[in-house]
Amino acid sequence: MDMEKLVALCRRRGFIFQSSEIYGGINGFWDYGPLGVELKKNVKEAWWQDMVRNPPLGPDGQEINMVGVDCALVMNPKVWEASGHVAGFSDPMVDCKTDGCKGRFRADQLAGMTCPLKPSKAPGQFEKCQLTQPRVFNLMFKTFIGALEDPSAIAYLRPETAQGIFVNYKNVLDSTRLKLPFGIAQVGKAFRNEINPRNYTFRSREFEQMEIEFFCHPDESMKWYEYWRDVRIRWYSQLGIRSERLRPREQTAEERAFYSIGTTDIEYMFPFSEEPQELEGVAHRASYDLTQHQKHSGKDLSYFDEELWAKADKSPYGGDKKKETEAKAGLPYRFTPHVIEPSAGADRFTLAVLCEAYAEDTIGGEARVVMRFHPRMAPIKAAILPLVNKEGMPEKAFALYRELKQDYNVFYDDKGAVGRRYRRQDEAGTPFCVTIDGQSLQDGTVTIRDRDTTEQRRIPIGGVADELRKLLRPAQ
Ligand code: ATP
Repeated sequence: MDMEKLVALCRRRGFIFQSSEIYGGINGFWDYGPLGVELKKNVKEAWWQDMVRNPPLGPDGQEINMVGVDCALVMNPKVWEASGHVAGFSDPMVDCKTDGCKGRFRADQLAGMTCPLKPSKAPGQFEKCQLTQPRVFNLMFKTFIGALEDPSAIAYLRPETAQGIFVNYKNVLDSTRLKLPFGIAQVGKAFRNEINPRNYTFRSREFEQMEIEFFCHPDESMKWYEYWRDVRIRWYSQLGIRSERLRPREQTAEERAFYSIGTTDIEYMFPFSEEPQELEGVAHRASYDLTQHQKHSGKDLSYFDEELWAKADKSPYGGDKKKETEAKAGLPYRFTPHVIEPSAGADRFTLAVLCEAYAEDTIGGEARVVMRFHPRMAPIKAAILPLVNKEGMPEKAFALYRELKQDYNVFYDDKGAVGRRYRRQDEAGTPFCVTIDGQSLQDGTVTIRDRDTTEQRRIPIGGVADELRKLLRPAQ
């Protein structure tokens, strides 16, 4: 698949625009157009529905407790000191001093880049390249709070949504009375001042994440790590990502963060790269984050296992309250939970969905472009078309459209030849076209055209809503 064709289609049909395009754009920022906003909403809604509201049953067939939060983009800067971002959230950067280049590159990704000199090569490959020594560059966007621009007013736009979850862990525990194990989820914007934003929306400076922090007992953490890794891989397949393009890759001990017990990157074979690229990281973070926040905030973030204590044999304490209190304060009753973090990018997955969907074929001797979205991802679920604009067809079509619109994003189109209308919907990735024709007025049936096969069948007009419902039901 040719990335340039996809980018052109996305602009032409209103999936993705360059941010501030009429001013020449701004590197690393993107806007979603009318079709794109629906697609990305579907990505986020499918994730929320399948992971938060109705996650798959656990490894022992148990219900999974999940709740959500929606935290501020700007947090107390101490959060980022505790999390390690102020000191360590950086990439190595090199500059090229050569006239005509003056490029700035990520030192650890030089091989996959091209420099501005023609013919383009990887930075450092021309004899005249003059690369500086790598310097560390912190990726957090800085801002100031209030009127004074002094160091005490410095704040950061969050570089990930995860920390909002960690610092609210106790609030959630106290306000919901959840017991371990349970997860807290968040979807929202994150900002990183990437040195080389590139590959369309893949590496942007503003993007959205879909993150879960799943808190569990340390002894059960490996089981939950495996559960979430498998659930997340399956989710991508269920939404139409072909398995040969999806590569889960267990990180080596050298690659992993020092506190992590296991990390799997779920990678996708994007057309712009020879190597699969990360869509999501599923990390076993042990008790690192809660321990850090406990240390920096001075607040107790440990967990007391009431059920275990209730069941415990208390005879060794002989009714001595002091001994009991001491016993309650330590293992196995009180501990810092371990955390499994599936951290996905909404924009990266949206891009993968677009890449996966793009297809060209020939129908009746005519070439067409068709976006083969999974129905749950499709921005428009069905188009309602009167065959011609007379004989009562528009009225009947419009009534069906009004009815379906209450539950689904459907589109009414009565302009131009029906074949052209089908083609436009194929490009938008609409799974169904429902046509009201002469026969519809006689016997109350409509034709329903399948986007991928272009085959048409007749069904009663009253059955259209049911067809849509079946099509859009999540896989179990
Ligand atoms: P990379 O190595 O690609 O920079 P990362 O390992 O730093 O990514 P994480 O910090 O694990 O990424 O972030 C979790 C997810 O957030 C990633 O898997 C990705 O989907 C998304 N993400 C991270 N950075 C960006 C970005 N610059 N643009 C778009 N999505 C991003």
